[in-house]
Amino acid sequence: PNRQFVREAALFMREHDRFLVLSHINPDGDATGSALGVVLMLEQLGKQYVVVNEGETPEKFAFLPRFDQLRNLRKQPLEEKFGAVIAVDCADESRMGDVRSLFDSGVRLLNIDHHPTNDGFGDVNLIRTDAAATAEILFDVAEELGVSFTEELALCIYTGLLTDTGGFRYSNTSPRVMEIAARLLSYGVKPGEVAERCLEEITFAHVKILRRALQTLELSHQNLIASITVSVDDFLETQAEREDAGGLVNYCRNIEGVEVGVSFVESEPGVVKVSMRARDRVDVSLVAKQMGGGGHAKAAGCTIRGSLSEVKQKVSLVLEEAVGVKSDE
Ligand code: 5GP
Ligand code: MN
Ligand code: MN
Repeated sequence: PNRQFVREAALFMREHDRFLVLSHINPDGDATGSALGVVLMLEQLGKQYVVVNEGETPEKFAFLPRFDQLRNLRKQPLEEKFGAVIAVDCADESRMGDVRSLFDSGVRLLNIDHHPTNDGFGDVNLIRTDAAATAEILFDVAEELGVSFTEELALCIYTGLLTDTGGFRYSNTSPRVMEIAARLLSYGVKPGEVAERCLEEITFAHVKILRRALQTLELSHQNLIASITVSVDDFLETQAEREDAGGLVNYCRNIEGVEVGVSFVESEPGVVKVSMRARDRVDVSLVAKQMGGGGHAKAAGCTIRGSLSEVKQKVSLVLEEAVGVKSDE
């Protein structure tokens, strides 16, 4: 059955001429690598495209081919309405943000994704929840299309695989991931350089945010939950951007004995981005879903309106049920 959806996706790319290519808000390495991977495939097919994101793509991905083609819709609005859309790494339409304004309900939409919480919002849905990354699925699409695995295309796909598996460390690192990664290396990808860009290099602003955030780290629910908090003031005082606050949640989850790590990042007054990472016992995608978000069993998130203390209280109660321990015990 999977093969059939891969064929349908390939057909979709062949039968239209001009595409809107998009990924999710606050794009990560899989979203960006997958969107640019699709773009490179469309170029090989002789198609036209516009590739957009609601906001800015982190500068750390500037090493990817066609990075300069990525349009930030907030800074460069678009008038055009599109007939064919390819969405990658988006679990549902809300993940697209304002990019949704670029098409109407009559649009033809191809949805390529790997999130278990994907609601199948496309006309063609290529969803494989066993895939470690959307980029892993794109590898199959590229083979089906018969496009050539240039070093650039290989780099885009590799970047998605590397980042969504946390550097080939998370439990989604399957034999197939390693096989595909090996193929991509044989097409010229330089693993040390990609890892340096995506995983090792950090901004000084990140370190400054981290320094403050670690002061807030607290354990609760009989030490099963660890959380970290970043306020709007922290951003102002360190002159950090939102993307500089990435990865903080791992310091919580990695603490021995902790089952769920949580970060509360107040991106603007009254808006809190919640990130959750689980060890074994809790499926955080279900927790996130209860609060209007989604994700994977071991990595999920949501955005909640309210003050930091209101949001922390709300999440604490939902987690209380998930770990089976009261927050104040
Ligand atoms: P992060 O915590 O790194 O932002 O996201 C972790 C995972 O949860 C990613 O797979 C991401 O796609 C998903 N995720 C994060 N926030 C949301 C959200 O608001 N809605 C949905 N559906 N998924 C989210
Ligand atoms: Mn993603
Ligand atoms: Mn992904």
